[in-house]
Amino acid sequence: MKFFLSNINTLWIWFIEALFPQKCLICRKEGAYLCTKHKTFQPAPPNQVRFRYLDKCLASTKYFSQPSDKVVEFFKFKGFKILGDIMAKEMIKNISPNSLQKAIFVPIPLHWTRLLWRGFNQSNVLVLALQKQYPPLQICYDLKRVKRTNQQARLSKKHRAQNLEKAFRWKSSKFPSQKIILIDDVVASGKTLDEAAKTLKKLGAIKVVGIVFARGGKS
Ligand SMILES: [Zn+2]
Repeated sequence: MKFFLSNINTLWIWFIEALFPQKCLICRKEGAYLCTKHKTFQPAPPNQVRFRYLDKCLASTKYFSQPSDKVVEFFKFKGFKILGDIMAKEMIKNISPNSLQKAIFVPIPLHWTRLLWRGFNQSNVLVLALQKQYPPLQICYDLKRVKRTNQQARLSKKHRAQNLEKAFRWKSSKFPSQKIILIDDVVASGKTLDEAAKTLKKLGAIKVVGIVFARGGKS
């Protein structure tokens, strides 16, 4: 069922993209999703989150600024998966050539109920867009979300940690020995990435780094 809905969504977006020419998400000028005037992303603010398990988190741009907000809005909530290519181009600047070759890239998974609702996992789209730019990139989908969590932003600080506790599980008997790079679209409190890193570190991961498109404020 979820694959059926996901395919319908893909077809629908393909139809929309074929029917309507690309227009700048900010000023509606025809020609590209970001025109020359609006294609520069603001640098990401420095990380203010103290992670317990994640070694570090690198972001390409600032959330709550333009054009990153519009890009995330259309990509994640309006299903314009093609914008993943623009985001990946920014993200890849934060990945060292050594990591590109040797690390394992793991997208942050969605619980199947949210996947059904959205039709696609934004992190999967981003990791595939990164691979398009660097084809030897190794991707692993063995990290699964086994708990349906509430949106972190809607919870009190006290309930956020409980909400994500044991949310992830590694679904394979094999565990990579390389450095692991977790891919996600946006980081705010960092709790999701840290919980995923906790799962991986408990299984023996030596280094887990997060690479995200945009960083919002600490909340
Ligand atoms: Zn524009």
